[in-house]
Formats: sequence, C-alpha cells, structure tokens
Amino acid sequence: MSTPRRLLARLRDLMARGTAPMPELVRLVAAELVTEVCSIYVMRPGEVLELAATEGLRAEAVGTTRLRVGEGIIGLAAATQLPQNLADAQNHPAFAWRPETGEDLYASMLAVPVRRAGRTLGVLAVQNRTPRNYDADEVEVVETVAMLLAELLAAHVAEAGEQALVDTLPRRFSAVPLAPGVAIGPILVNGPAAAPRRLLAEDPAQELARLDAAVVRMQQGIDDLIAAGLPDAATTKPDAVASREILDAYKLVAADSGWLKRVADAVRGGLSAEAAVHRIAADLRDRMRRVTDPYLRERLADIEDMVGRLLAALDGGEAAPVPPGAILIARRLGPAELLAWHARGIAGVVIEEATPSGHAAILARALGLPALAAPRGTLEAAESDDEAVLDADEGQLILRPEQDVVRHYRRAQEARHARAANWAALRDRPTATADGTPVALMLNVGLALELAQLDATGAAGIGLFRTEIAMLARGAIADTAEQAAVYARVLDAAGPRPVLFRTLDLGGDKLLPGSAPTEENPAMGWRSLRVGLDRPALLRRQLRALLLAAGGRDLSVMFPMVATVAEFRAARALLRAEAARVRPAPARLSIGTMLEIPALMWQLDALLPEVDFISVGTNDLLQFLFAADRGTPGLAARYDLLSAPVLDLLAQLVEACGRAGVPLSVCGEHAGRPLEALAMVGLGITSLSMPASGVLPVKAALAALDLPALRNLLAALRRTRDGAASLREPIAAWAREHGLPV
Ligand code: PEP
Ligand code: MG
Repeated sequence: MSTPRRLLARLRDLMARGTAPMPELVRLVAAELVTEVCSIYVMRPGEVLELAATEGLRAEAVGTTRLRVGEGIIGLAAATQLPQNLADAQNHPAFAWRPETGEDLYASMLAVPVRRAGRTLGVLAVQNRTPRNYDADEVEVVETVAMLLAELLAAHVAEAGEQALVDTLPRRFSAVPLAPGVAIGPILVNGPAAAPRRLLAEDPAQELARLDAAVVRMQQGIDDLIAAGLPDAATTKPDAVASREILDAYKLVAADSGWLKRVADAVRGGLSAEAAVHRIAADLRDRMRRVTDPYLRERLADIEDMVGRLLAALDGGEAAPVPPGAILIARRLGPAELLAWHARGIAGVVIEEATPSGHAAILARALGLPALAAPRGTLEAAESDDEAVLDADEGQLILRPEQDVVRHYRRAQEARHARAANWAALRDRPTATADGTPVALMLNVGLALELAQLDATGAAGIGLFRTEIAMLARGAIADTAEQAAVYARVLDAAGPRPVLFRTLDLGGDKLLPGSAPTEENPAMGWRSLRVGLDRPALLRRQLRALLLAAGGRDLSVMFPMVATVAEFRAARALLRAEAARVRPAPARLSIGTMLEIPALMWQLDALLPEVDFISVGTNDLLQFLFAADRGTPGLAARYDLLSAPVLDLLAQLVEACGRAGVPLSVCGEHAGRPLEALAMVGLGITSLSMPASGVLPVKAALAALDLPALRNLLAALRRTRDGAASLREPIAAWAREHGLPV
C-alpha cells in the first residue's frame, strides 16, 4: 500500500492555505489512519520538544508538555532520528510519563522524527489503546506526513521568525585549520539534497512520465561515467577488473527495480517525483545507519549516490550556481571534487573528515582556499544559506554569527590583507637567519595555476611538483604529449630556479575516477612507485614526458614511496633508459628519492652513494613512523613532528647526508609552519619546500632567528627529554621569549 491518495489530497488542500494548521493536520491524520491519538511535538531552542498540537491527548497539555531530546519515547525518536514503533510504550525503559496528557490510556505508539536538511524539527506521534506494532505501510504513511510536516514547520519558521522552531542561534565549532585564511559568506551544504519545493503532484500520470524520463537520463549519465572512468577496462589487470566489478554493481543498483518501484509507488500515491525520491532516500539513510555489514553499506551508499543523481536528472541536470563568497561544508571531499567546487567559485571549505596532511588539505592550501576540518555534527547543524564565518587562522567555524562578530571579522580580514602586504615587502630580500645562515624556501606545487606563486612569494624554486594533481583534476592519466606540455610550462615559469619533479604518486587517498580502492589499507597498499614499477609503461611514459619537457635544460626527478634501495635502482634504471633515447638530453639529470618510508633510514649506507638528493616527505613519514593514518582526524593532534623521535631521525639524516655530500630538503606540509620550519633549520636542514602560504611567514620567522641559540635549545631538549610525547611547548615558549613571529 502506498500513502492513501485521499489523505494526501486533503493535506494538499490544507497546505494550499499557506499557514501551519497543526490542529487540523493532527485531526486529519488521526481520522485517516484510524489512530486514537495523533500529536505533533516541535523543537524549541535549547533542544526541548514541546507538544504543539494533539488529537486525542488532553488539550491543556498543548504548550505545556515538554521533553528534552533523549527523554521519553518522543525524545528518543528525536535523539536517534529513527522511528520508534512500540506495542507497549509505557513499559519501555525510556518512557517518561506526563500526567497532564492523559496518555496512560494508550498502549501502543509510533513516534517518527520530523527532519529537514539533516536537522530534527520535531516528532510526529500516533497512539492507540490496543497494544500493537504498526505495520510497514502505516510507518510509511506517518513518515510521509512527517516529511510534509517538516515543510510546514520550516515555512512557519521562515514566516514567523519571532518564535523559532529551529536553531537560529549562533553556534561555534572548534576546528582544525587545513589551509589558512578567513571566509565570510553563506553556507552551501554538500550533503543530502535540499528538500523539494513542490511536494504534491496534481497529475500522478504526468509525474510518473517525468520520473521515467529522469531515470533514463540518470542511467545514461552512469553509462557515460563508466565509459570515461575505465579507459583500460578491456585489459585483464586486477585493478581494472576490480574497478569494472564495482562499477557494474553500481550500474545494477541504478537499474534495480526495487527502489525505483518504491519511488514510483510514492508518486502514484500523490507525491511529486522529487518528494517521492526524498521520501525513499530518507528511508535508505535510516536503514544505512542500522546496517553494519560493510558490503551492504557500500550498496546502500551507492543507492544514496544514485538518489542525488536522480534528483539532479529531475532538475534537468544543471548544477545550481554557487552564491558569491559561499562556504562549502561536506562530510568528505576528494581532491577532484574539491577542484570542481573551487572552479565553481567557493570561497572556503569545511570538511568533517579531513586532516592537515590529507590531500584535500594540500589542495586547499595550493588553491589558497581557507579550509577547516570540523567535528562530526557540524554538517547537521548547518543549513544551506545560513551565514557563517570560517576562521582557519584561529580554527573555528561560526554558524549564524551575530552581526558584531561579522563586523569584527571583516575588520580582521582587512588587517590580514595589510599583514600580507607587509610580508610582501620581505619577498625580495634574501632568506636567511638573523645570524646570516642562508636557507632556501621552495614551493610545493601541483597545478599550473600555482606557478604565479613563484614570483608572488619570491620562492627559490619548486621543491616538490606533485605530478598526479593535474591528472586528478582532469580525472584521467594524460598522454605523453599532454604531460610534456604541462612540465614544460612549469620549467618555463621557473626559469633559472630549480624544480624537483616527483613521479606519479597515485593511490591511497589520491584516486582517479573508476579506481576505487579494493584494499583494506590503501595507504600501505599498491600505490605510488609500486604501481609505477609494476606497470613500467605508465612510468616510462611519464619519464619520457619529463625528458621531452626539459628539452636540454636541467632536470631533477624524484621517486615517491621508495621502500628499498632496489626499488630506487629499478626506477632510476627506467629513467636512464629513457634518457638515453630522448634528444636533446638534459644538461644535467639529477635523480633523487623521497624519504617517506622509515625503512630507508636503515639503508642509508647503500642509498646515499646512489642518489643525487633526498627530500623528506614528512606527511607520509610521520604516518608510517607513528602508524597513524594521515587521513584520520582524531589522530592529527596525537603525534608531533616536534617530538624526540622525529627530531632524532632528522638529525641523523642531516648527519648522514652531510657526510655523503647529498643535498637534503624537506617537502612535507610541516615545512610551511614557522615553528616546525625553525626547528628543522635548527637541526641543519637548509632547504624547505612548502605551500605558498607558508613562504613569507617562515621567511619572517627565520629572519628573526638566532640559530646557534636554537641549536643549543634543541640539543638540550633532545638530551633531557623524559619521554614527552611532544617538545612543542618548550620550543614555542622559547620562540615567544625571543620575539619570533610564530
Ligand atoms: C609527503 O608525504 O610528505 C609528501 C610531500 O607527499 P604527499 O603529501 O604528496 O604524499
Ligand atoms: Mg607522500
């Protein structure tokens, strides 16, 4: 059975009046569903649910009976965001008796949360005297009414304003800065699609035709996606086969008649196509939260993704324009998605599941896009078009800020521009410590659009060119000529300044479309140079492109994720073989390695005589050193570069490279943070590569640094360490005492 048409038709009449006639609504629902009680509880500020209308309970309870979220069956439905279907509600451990309601007469209860855009606005409940469980059809009807009620409540809020039903108060979230800067503007939620404007349809037949056409468009879109995402689907390589299986399963879901039939049933019941899709999507989300089987969760996630596609297809497939200054808020965001949003004009981004050394963060810094990693629950608290302040300097997000706060931030933004102008004055001065030790500050770059930063920051060169970023941006591996054109542009822009190209570092959290991870632990899986060595054609193509781009100029190439000397030798052999073929040969070919896998530290004797340089990738090095996933937000603050084990490791490396005469640099994100940069220079590292935003602040800090004094401090701290997890505090205190801008 679908939602009774008569009930929907009568609801449509009610809603057409444009007010929120809750007493009539509960009367109507109770009559149509043959329940003795139907009540609406609405959320008041302070997370309190207040009885706003009832048919069946005592009238004097309206406006009086209140339950906190989590209290009673009503509070439980709101807290869990799940329907509570109980044959014997009064003996449920959560039951909270409110004598003024007179509800002791009623045994069974079905309480359904009223939600909109991820936020709970209230609870709709029906009750009966006889103990019974409500069947699936009845639950579906009450959920549909709850969806309509959500719109009524939201409209009421928009109109009434004075007595808000939803949270309109400011909320502050402490968040981890991912990329510096401040943004002020409207929120754009990248979550469940916004609620449809039209809920009920006049003509179900016409609505079904719209739905069918949208389903065809959606399936066509998925076919195109699969065709574009799997260029090598014909091969029998394990990853191509696995990717195809995943995409085929996805396609099956798209064609699966089960959920589409439920959508169609809901349309036949009188809902608009969009409302029907929303209805089924909400149900799927509830189910998804309850299943634990990872395979099933994946399938449900696929369906949810499909729901988004179907809504877009109903909408004509056009992406809505991004309002000026918009701050995107998302649960997760891959590098390619972030690039796409950036291109659409967002001014800042908040991601719930992200860390400072993850690739979304790296990209945000590269793009100069202020970014925060916010705690779980932020997405639910935000609603599209809420005003917000994203403060990635202080690490906070303020939703619906007071106007005073906005004014303060606007002033701070102006001050920030002035500070940046001050730093700009530093740009053309040589980089050195106060006592005159020169330091080379280089840039980490991944996109052509960042090349302008070379001149803007006065950086000494490019210490890390991440070749995979441009391919992630376009969603596919480029051919030799296309790659050569990109690399030549980089060398042209750098002119006499050095550039260290890093070969493709795909895998882990940097995935091309269609290459979904099939490993339990992709960060330690078949990624990066491992792929390059197993698929030498791919690596050779890139090496050739680099040599062609150099066209007789100097060329420096380094390999990522090298775990053994043998891997380095194998990669170098490929490069030398290509170099022997390409004319003109580079004036000088330097071949180095990144050091990001700790095992290399115990192979330095064999490694150092063979490499032309070493660059330490602290992002991965710390992840593997502490066995702490760089993508897990909860672990980000747990382990510190400014700690004895890392400082000891770096000191040993400085020593060994110095003895062997091998140039050493650091190119992880840590190098761009002034305090970390000072410590590394204090250990004897004189070449640091970092995001553009770090260059001038690090330069300013170095200019004020008394290097011998810091060296003494670090030596003393490393000698007297007592198992402290971090040495940050004493180093920071020293820096403050010495007036260093960190
Ligand atoms: C690193 O691991 O520190 C590094 C620079 O490489 P990526 O961040 O691209 O993995
Ligand atoms: Mg790395």
